[in-house]
Amino acid sequence: KLFSDSQLPENVLECCKGFAKPSPIQSHAWPFLLDGRDFIGIAQTGSGKTLAFGIPAMMHVLGKRKTEKSRRVNPLCLMLSPTRELAQQIADVLCDAGKSCGVKSACFYGGTSKGPQLGALRSGVDIVIATPGRLKDLIEMGACHLNEATFVVLDEADRMLDMGFEQDVRSILSQTSSARQMVMFSATWPTEVHQLAQEFMDPNPIKV
Ligand code: AMP
Repeated sequence: KLFSDSQLPENVLECCKGFAKPSPIQSHAWPFLLDGRDFIGIAQTGSGKTLAFGIPAMMHVLGKRKTEKSRRVNPLCLMLSPTRELAQQIADVLCDAGKSCGVKSACFYGGTSKGPQLGALRSGVDIVIATPGRLKDLIEMGACHLNEATFVVLDEADRMLDMGFEQDVRSILSQTSSARQMVMFSATWPTEVHQLAQEFMDPNPIKV
C-alpha cells in the first residue's frame, strides 16, 4: 500500500513526507478509522501506531470543522496514555503533524503546575492527550469538558489498567460523547481490557 492509496489530503500527509510507505498498522487502521468504525489494535510501540490513530484523529477534527458555525473551544478528540513520557511522545508527533493542517493538540499530565494547562484549555484545543490522573483533576475543576469528544483513543490500554488507572479511565470515558468513535491499542489482551472494550465500544469493533 502507498500513501496515495489512502485518499488522505496532502496537508494531512505532510508529516509522512520522510516515510516511503504506510506501516502495516497504518494501512490496516486508516480505512476503518476514517470510516468511523471502533477499532482495536494489538500493536507495540515502534509499529507506527501513533500516526495510525493520529491521522484519523486529525481528519475527524477537519471533518467536524467544516460543519461548525462558530469557534469551538472544547476538544473533539481525547487520547489517554498511561505515562507522562508516552503522552508527551504522542503529543510531539501530533503537534508537529497538526501544523500543516491547523489542528491543535495539547498534552496534560501530573507532576507539573496546572497554570499553562488551564491556559491551553481556555484558548481551545482540538486534541487532548493526557494521563488519566491529571485529566480527572482538570475535569473535576471544570477546566476540561469532554462532552464533545467524539474520537477517543486508549493507548497502551493494558498498561493503563496495570498501573491502577481503571476507575479513572472509566470515569473519564463516561464523560465523553455517547456518539464517540473508540480506538484501543494494547500490547496484550487480558480479561480486564476485554471488559473495558465491551463496556465502551461498539459490539463489533474491528480487531487487527
Ligand atoms: P510509533 O509506533 O508511533 O511510536 O512510531 C515509531 C517510529 O516509526 C517513529 O519514529 C515514527 O516516526 C516512525 N514511523 C511512523 N510511521 C512510519 C512509516 N510509515 N514509515 C516509517 N517509519 C514510520
